[in-house]
Amino acid sequence: MKIAVIGAGLAGLTAASILSEYADVVVYEKEVEGGLASSWHTEKGYWIEKFYHHCFRGDKELLEQIKRYKLTNKLVWKVARVGFAHEDRIYPLNTPLEILKYPYLSFTDKIKLALFTYKSRRRNYKEFDEKGVVEGIREEIGESVLNEFFMPLLRSKFGENHGEVSYAWLLARVSIRSNRKYSGEELGYMRGGFQQLVEKMTEGLNIQYERASLKVGGGLIVNGRDYDAVVFTSPLSELDGTVRKAAGIAEIKYQSSVCALIGAEGKVTEDIYWTNIRDRRVFGAMIEHTNFMPVKDYGEELIYLASYTTPDGWLYNTPDEDLKKLYLKDLKKYGFNEGDLNWIEIFRAKYSGPIFEKGYLKKLTDYRTLLKNLYIAGMTSPPNYPERSMNGSIKAGKEVAEVIKKDFGFE
Ligand SMILES: Cc1cc2nc3c(=O)[nH]c(=O)nc-3n(C[C@H](O)[C@H](O)[C@H](O)COP(=O)(O)OP(=O)(O)OC[C@H]3O[C@@H](n4cnc5c(N)ncnc54)[C@H](O)[C@@H]3O)c2cc1C
Repeated sequence: MKIAVIGAGLAGLTAASILSEYADVVVYEKEVEGGLASSWHTEKGYWIEKFYHHCFRGDKELLEQIKRYKLTNKLVWKVARVGFAHEDRIYPLNTPLEILKYPYLSFTDKIKLALFTYKSRRRNYKEFDEKGVVEGIREEIGESVLNEFFMPLLRSKFGENHGEVSYAWLLARVSIRSNRKYSGEELGYMRGGFQQLVEKMTEGLNIQYERASLKVGGGLIVNGRDYDAVVFTSPLSELDGTVRKAAGIAEIKYQSSVCALIGAEGKVTEDIYWTNIRDRRVFGAMIEHTNFMPVKDYGEELIYLASYTTPDGWLYNTPDEDLKKLYLKDLKKYGFNEGDLNWIEIFRAKYSGPIFEKGYLKKLTDYRTLLKNLYIAGMTSPPNYPERSMNGSIKAGKEVAEVIKKDFGFE
């Protein structure tokens, strides 16, 4: 039996490794294994994720995978400090005292925010799928919390698409985040990078580095070869329109990511890992990787400047050299000394995640499609809601493999 897996991201690699025990599996990858979780090899000789990555204690599937490859000893867990940048100043927002001292939200607003977080745990978020997030927050918590707190976060997470997002998404997200067992957001990172996991997951697989094109004739044909089953794990926009229609797959809107990664001799904040940017800047969040991992692991400070946009947005389509200047200009506003810069790289992902727009819950893709033996797994699968994550894609890869095993009577 022959199975094609399209995409060697974490979903594709997971599905391929399970299915390889039962079938002849070919993985097609048009760029590099690891997909959005892939890394860059710096001139200094270390690997670093092109886009910032960390995990959570509750990421069961990811942690199991890490354990399976005997990499658990590489995991580092820490409470990561967060901050909020207002104009040119960065305010830490971690302890109750820091939150009380934050001057741009009134005491009443802080209480409203705390109550909203508490209440979100018990709500049926699905009821709010058709409601817009901006409208929902305005009605429930008020204009000032919306403008001073949520708007910057929404812009940082969804760029110019933030107005389309559903209120259900926010409620679901707040609920899973506030339900986390460990207070103060304990995050995990793999010393030496998640590249080590990607390499282990790739071992032994038959990967063809070419763009796959799926055709449906008498059967399922990928790049001219017949397959008994196809697992599609790439962005749905990569599927031919007619195949997509025949398979009954909804149109899903994706957002793009542009991320500047900087190697430097100096840092911006003393100890904050994640800073959300309130005011309009080229980037919506600054992630100081070496305020989480020791700088000695790299021999230099590492800073990500993250932006979300649309595939046809100006940011996604601006040349690297222009973007570098824009990112550095905005970074200087927070005290970064350009003389400390070692290098700056720009990474882009055209399809970096679905926009959790109004009505999105109805669009989540099932593993089985209307086309016999064509399966879908990845960022639009149920485990990747309300957060698309490494854990969600590994879970989707596992679940689709289970469905195929059942359909073909493996075992
Ligand atoms: C900026 C950013 C930050 C993130 N931070 C975190 C984080 O901190 N923690 C976390 O858990 N997750 C994070 N994620 C999310 C995580 O990286 C993804 O959810 C996960 O890696 C997606 O895996 P996937 O296999 O579903 O999809 P992808 O990684 O997108 O894999 C799909 C693969 O298909 C390939 N492909 C596309 N078209 C074709 C074609 N026609 N033929 C062949 N191959 C094709 C692509 O090249 C890609 O390798 C982040 C993502 C981004 C963009």
